[in-house]
Amino acid sequence: MTAPAHPAPSARRLRTRAALLAVLGEHGALSRAEISRLTGLSRSAVSSAVTDLIDEGLAGETTATATTGRGRRAAAVTLRRAHALVLAFDFGHTHVTAAVADTTGAVLGEATAHLDVDNHPREVLAAARTLADRALAAAGHPLDAIAAVAAGIPGALDTRTNVVRAPSTLSQWIGMDPAAELGRLFDRPVTVGNDAEMGARGERAHSGGHAVNDLIYVKASTGIGAGLLLDGRIYRGASGISGEIGHIQLPDTGTWCRCGNRGCLESVASIVEVRRRLAHVLAPGARPDDDVDLPPLGELAGTPAAARVIGEAGRTIGRVLADLVNCLNPAAIVIGGELGLAGAPLINGIRESVDRYAQPAVAEAVEIRASRLGLRSELYGAVDAAVAAAVGPD
Ligand SMILES: [Zn+2]
Repeated sequence: MTAPAHPAPSARRLRTRAALLAVLGEHGALSRAEISRLTGLSRSAVSSAVTDLIDEGLAGETTATATTGRGRRAAAVTLRRAHALVLAFDFGHTHVTAAVADTTGAVLGEATAHLDVDNHPREVLAAARTLADRALAAAGHPLDAIAAVAAGIPGALDTRTNVVRAPSTLSQWIGMDPAAELGRLFDRPVTVGNDAEMGARGERAHSGGHAVNDLIYVKASTGIGAGLLLDGRIYRGASGISGEIGHIQLPDTGTWCRCGNRGCLESVASIVEVRRRLAHVLAPGARPDDDVDLPPLGELAGTPAAARVIGEAGRTIGRVLADLVNCLNPAAIVIGGELGLAGAPLINGIRESVDRYAQPAVAEAVEIRASRLGLRSELYGAVDAAVAAAVGPD
C-alpha cells in the first residue's frame, strides 16, 4: 500500500477548512471577524485556516485600509476561484478513474485502473492515491493545488452516518466511511455520493446551456439505479438511499434478484442479462456458460435481432420509469451506464413504455435520451461536487 504523503489531518481541521470554503463561496469577500461570526469558529481557528488557504494559493486577502471618518476598513478574504483545482473519483465495480479539474469543470489530467472494486476496498484506496498522483502529473500540478475531493461509489451510502450500506453490492465496504478514508489520504474536504447521484450532477453540469431542474439520471449497468435532481437539487432521501429503481418489482416476472426478491427490474434488464440474451441471439450454438465475444452495444442497432433484444430491455426499464414519470413529472430522463451506449433501440423502447403507461400530459413533457457523456457522467458529476465544495455552488 502506498504511504500517504500527508499526515492524517484532524477532523476539526477538515471541518474548519470546509466551513471557510463554504462561507467564502457563498458570500464572496469577508473579513476574518465576519467569517468567525458566520461560521461560529474562534478567531484563532479562522486565522490559521485563512493562513493555510492563502499559503495554498486558494485565497487572497486585501490589506486593511484607512477610511474617512471611522478608523480602518478590515482586510477582506476572498477565494481565488481560478486557482482552485479539484480532484474527482469515479469508482465503478471494476474500475477507478481519478481526474484533476479546474473550477470551470475542465478536466486537466486523469488516470484509470481496472480492478475488483467490490471485494478489495483497501487495495482500491491505495490505487486511488496512485491514480491521483498520475492525474496530477498529467495535469502538471502538485497535490497542494487541490482544494477539495469528491467521489462517486457504486453502492448505497447512508448520509446519516456516511458509511456504506450495500447488502448486495460493495459487501466488503459495509461499515466503511469512504469520505473519512479519502480525507486521510488527501488531507482535504471530501464529498462522497452514490454513482447515480454523481451521474445526475454530471448531466446537469453538461446540459449544453439548457438549465434542467427536474432530471432523472439512470445508470443502467450491472445494477440499475437512478439519481434524482428535483426542483434544482439532488434528492437523496431520508438516509441517502433514494433511487434504487433496480429493485422495483415488475408484474409477471419471477426471476430471482441478488437482493433476495423476485421480479426486480435489474434481474431482467441489467447489462449482464442483456448480454446473455444477445449471445443467445448472435451466437445460437453457444452454451450459456460460453464466453461469447459481442460487438460493442452501439454497433448492434443495425442488427435487427439484436435491436429487438435491446428494445425489449428498453420497454422493461420504461415500464418502471413510467411510474416515476407519473410520480415526479421530470423534464428529462437521461440513460447512462453501459446499457445507455446501446442508443436508439434502447431509448425507443423506453419511450414506448413511458408513452403507454404514464399519463399523457406527463409523458409528453419528458425528454428521454441517452447520455451524451458516454460513460463519463459520474466522473463529471464528481468534478461538479468537488468544485461546489471548493468554491461554493454557483
Ligand atoms: Zn432486487
